[in-house]
Amino acid sequence: MNESAAPGRVGDVRRRNLSLVLDSIARTGDAKPSRAQLAAGTGLTKAAVSSLVADLVESGLVSEVGLYRDGERGRPGQGLELSARRGVVGMEINVDYLAVGLVDLGGNLRFHSTVESRNRGLAPDKVMERLGALTAEVKAAAAAENIAILGGGLAVPGLVDEQRNVVVSAPNLHWEREQLNPQSLLEGAPLGVRLSNEANSAALGELWYGAGQPDFLYVSGEVGVGGGVIIASELYTGPGGSAGELGHIVVHPEGPACSCGGSGCLETFAGQEAIFEAAGTPAGSLGERTHLLLGALAAEDPRATKAVHDAGRYLGIALASSARLMDIEAVVLGGHFALLADWLKPSLLSSLERYAPGLLDPSRLTVSGLEHSGTLLGAAGQVIRSVIESPFEFLLASKLA
Ligand SMILES: [Zn+2]
Repeated sequence: MNESAAPGRVGDVRRRNLSLVLDSIARTGDAKPSRAQLAAGTGLTKAAVSSLVADLVESGLVSEVGLYRDGERGRPGQGLELSARRGVVGMEINVDYLAVGLVDLGGNLRFHSTVESRNRGLAPDKVMERLGALTAEVKAAAAAENIAILGGGLAVPGLVDEQRNVVVSAPNLHWEREQLNPQSLLEGAPLGVRLSNEANSAALGELWYGAGQPDFLYVSGEVGVGGGVIIASELYTGPGGSAGELGHIVVHPEGPACSCGGSGCLETFAGQEAIFEAAGTPAGSLGERTHLLLGALAAEDPRATKAVHDAGRYLGIALASSARLMDIEAVVLGGHFALLADWLKPSLLSSLERYAPGLLDPSRLTVSGLEHSGTLLGAAGQVIRSVIESPFEFLLASKLA
């Protein structure tokens, strides 16, 4: 070590190297690198890697797995992975359900639970109370599997002020400037609970745990229609945090009034409830209505078929404009759009071809493979990524640095 180096500089180097090593372990994933492989991959000395790994193992972020030959003189080596004994809780409030999931540091969804809950117009306190009861299930599951909960991510269908834990606007919940206390859901968790937008979280879930492409527009289909723009593997939210609001792109100038205060928005034609109504699906729970709609589509019911066809056509118009504006080359469909993809895609693709001919290769319009867990994975994943980017701070908080 250079004696003239100020302590602050030494700290900076260690801070950077801890993150470098942890990020390398995260990126190799299933390959479970040895210390020697990490040294080769990062350019650090084996002694430095061993020291950094010792701290990461002691903090509980990294665990050693199995013995295998790492090549050098046939010596057996320990593989390293993000710990499966540390987890982050993903939570979601939506218009007619609540969901929770336990995600280990390696990004595996170890437990999840969804309950229908009519949250529209309910006071945030009441909804948070219900979510608290559901979160108790995750805590019990974590305890049973001996997984320590480090923190949580809470996704809501609206614009949020993450720093102040305020839901700025969630029109489909009828929430305006509502102060939440998400930390109360996981008292004592060292990383706290981070508030986020549902579509943005689902887009990040797709980026980190889905097909892994670096540039795409994620389309979230719920009661509301949302979007998340991923550019060069980063979420683009815009200066006010509301970029990617695909659901409120106007697709019909004379269209119906929308929850946002505007009219003719995509959501009024392609949101879940808009489709149920146009299809004549009888009232009922979300699960019942979804089941009935899928049954009607399978039976080629003309009204249901037209409702979904129209939703696809309008979605195509919104995507054509978005692709032109943002140079979007890939689209991933989530939520009900994923469920309805077989019936939606033909009109969506012909609409894209009509309004933005040749712009988007049909093979780049795909369905998310994460089904309904994308939002939970993304909400939890943001907290996991923050640890991977700054493990030094986590070690400091754990008094290990
Ligand atoms: Zn709108």
